[in-house]
Formats: sequence, C-alpha cells, structure tokens
Amino acid sequence: MDNLFRKTWVEVDLGAIHDNVVAFRRHLHDHQQLMVVVKADGYGHGAEQVADQALQAGANWLGVALLEEALALRQAGFSAPILVLGFIDAEHMSVARQHNISVMINDLDHFHTVYAQLDDQGQSPLHVHIKVDTGMGRLGMRDKGEFEQLCQDYMNLQKDDPHFSTRLHWEGMYTHLATADEADLAFLTEQQDHLSEYIQLLHQHGVNVPFAHMSNSAGIVRRLNDPQTNIVRLGISTYGLAPSPYMKANLLPFTLKPAFSLHSRLVHVKKISSGDSVSYGQTYKAHEETWIGTLAIGYADGLSRNLSNKAQALIEGKRVNLVGRICMDLTMIKLDQPYPRGTKVTLIGQQNELEVSMDEMANHLNTINYEIPCMISSRVPRIYKHFSPKC
Ligand SMILES: *Cc1c(COP(=O)(O)O)cnc(C)c1O
Repeated sequence: MDNLFRKTWVEVDLGAIHDNVVAFRRHLHDHQQLMVVVKADGYGHGAEQVADQALQAGANWLGVALLEEALALRQAGFSAPILVLGFIDAEHMSVARQHNISVMINDLDHFHTVYAQLDDQGQSPLHVHIKVDTGMGRLGMRDKGEFEQLCQDYMNLQKDDPHFSTRLHWEGMYTHLATADEADLAFLTEQQDHLSEYIQLLHQHGVNVPFAHMSNSAGIVRRLNDPQTNIVRLGISTYGLAPSPYMKANLLPFTLKPAFSLHSRLVHVKKISSGDSVSYGQTYKAHEETWIGTLAIGYADGLSRNLSNKAQALIEGKRVNLVGRICMDLTMIKLDQPYPRGTKVTLIGQQNELEVSMDEMANHLNTINYEIPCMISSRVPRIYKHFSPKC
C-alpha cells in the first residue's frame, strides 16, 4: 500500500475465497463440477486474482458474462474451461472458437446463424451450451417444440455434414433459477421439472450432451438433489456473501467468509460547535460541540450518495455515523473524540468484533449485496491479501 498516494483501498482476502471454494467443493455431490463465476471483474473483487485462487482451490470452470471478460482471462494465461453466459452475436463466435471459449446458444435461429458461419478449416470446434428458459424469462428457449427442432437439426447436420465435428460441439445445456434464494420452493420445483423434460427430449432425440447445469449459489447452498446436472455455477457465495437475507438467516450449511472490505483513512479532523453544519445542503447540524472526521472517499468511488446520513463506519473498533451529504471525493463522519490524521476507517468489513456488512449497506440502499462490490469503482485500488496454506 506504500505506493498509494491516497489512502483509500479495497482489501480482497484471497484466503477467504480459497476457504469458501474448498467448503463448497466438499458440499457438492460427487458427480458435480464447480464453475466459479467471475463476471463483472469477479463481482468487483478482481477476476484474475479470484479465478486463480478458485482454480487452485478446486474449481473446474470459469463463468463470465461477456466475450471480452473471457478473452481477458485467456490473455492472462488461464487455460481452464471458460463459459460465456451472456449473448454473443454469431459474427463474433469465431473469436470464441479461436480461444477455446465455450458459448451460450440462445435459440434455434441463433444456432443456425452461428453454425452457418463456422468454417471447417481444421480448427477445433466451437463448444456450445444451449440455454433453455424454464422460468427466469431472460435468455434461452421457452418452447419445447423449438428445442426439439434444434435437436433434430443438430442430428441431421451431424449425419449430413462431413465436417460437422470440426465445426461445432454441443457441450452443455443449462437454465437459470429465479427464486432459489427464497423460502417457497414451488417455482424452483417447476423449473427443475421443466429442465427434466428438456433433458428427456435430448435422450429421445439421441443427442449426447456431456454437461447440464442449473444451480447458482442459492441452488448450491440448498444442495439441490439434481442427478441430471453435473456442473454448478457458484457466483456470489464464492465471495463469502449469502444469496439473500433469508438464506443467510436460515440455510447456510457453513460459515461464509466475506473477502471484500473497504477502508479509508482520516485526512482531516476538526471540532465544530453547536449549530454548525456539515457538507452540501446543511443536511447535518451539530447539537453540541462535535468532532468531525473527513475521509478521502466519495460517490465517485462508488460510495453511493444515497448512503448520506445513513451508513455507519468503524474506527478503532467503534461504530460511527456518516454525517452530511457524501461528496464526489470526500465523506464526513462524526467522531466520539479526536483521532490522529491517518487513522484507519472501515466502511465495509470488520474491526475487532464489529462488522459493517455488505448486507447492511445494501439494506440502506434498498438493494442486494451483489450490487455493492460491483459499485465500488475502479478508482479504488484492490489490495490482495494472499493466501498462505497453513502447514
Ligand atoms: C451471475 C450468474 C450466476 C451466478 O449467480 P450467483 O447468484 O451469483 O451465484 C449463475 N448463472 C448465471 C447464468 C449467471 O448469470
């Protein structure tokens, strides 16, 4: 950290990532491979560092949302299987193929457009995972007739195109769960039943697809008994966060270790008098002599202005309030006493026994914990606490 001029940083504890992945590996059914989802720069933690740690801890696959994210991982030297979960235009599939990146196929039309532009120049085939929409209503086929047509077309191409196997390989099929983090299991069960029907159709049409997957972190935490799927996609809980407050309160099979914490240091400390105000719009006024500390972090760093006069932080193991409006680069806190400039303040994370959790901050913002680390902008450097195995 000595090379930072400005003392505001995120600490990413790679040991926590390691422990979470190891715990989930043990928790999985034997036949299941583990895909760790590192989209959006590893949910704001750093895709490469998280991917590296997760693979060392036993992950088999990496999942991302964008072709760009997959390419960045390949360029960083990752050779593990990578699946792009998001939509890629047919014209860009050759890039994925060239870098041995598996892709999602969204529907029958997408399949044919993609197939039509795959040449047969002796490269390795494009690996595709067909997406079916069993209730999420976002991507994939909803229509079983369309899916059957795809199965038939696939089998015909396999029969008729002598270069078939150098062009395309149907590697997987998958769906995404909409309510796996909730108490009520009814919709989840419906989605599972739909997936079973799709898998039946594969068998009926004689299509042999090596992989099927469905579970996100919530499905994994629940340890869904799904012998028909053999990959699971672990996102949020890789990072030590629960998929929902309900799951956090009721369903976690082991303690998750949050990897992300956000810190800054006091750059200025002063005493204000009763009646004095702090920051734009005078939304905070002191009722007595009050110590105010200023931190060099603001909404340009992703500390949402909607946290003004709501959020709390930790200093010397004590909780303090953010006071006045959060500015672009600066934020004020109310102190119980003067602390020296440079004193560390934790905005997300633990000090001693106390914690300001991601969930607490999400709650102030009426959002979910997922959004918080994604929001902390790239202006805030990520400092890695490396994992050292205990011998
Ligand atoms: C982001 C994502 C995941 C991971 O979900 P979590 O809830 O973070 O575990 C899994 N599958 C798909 C398709 C996704 O987009």
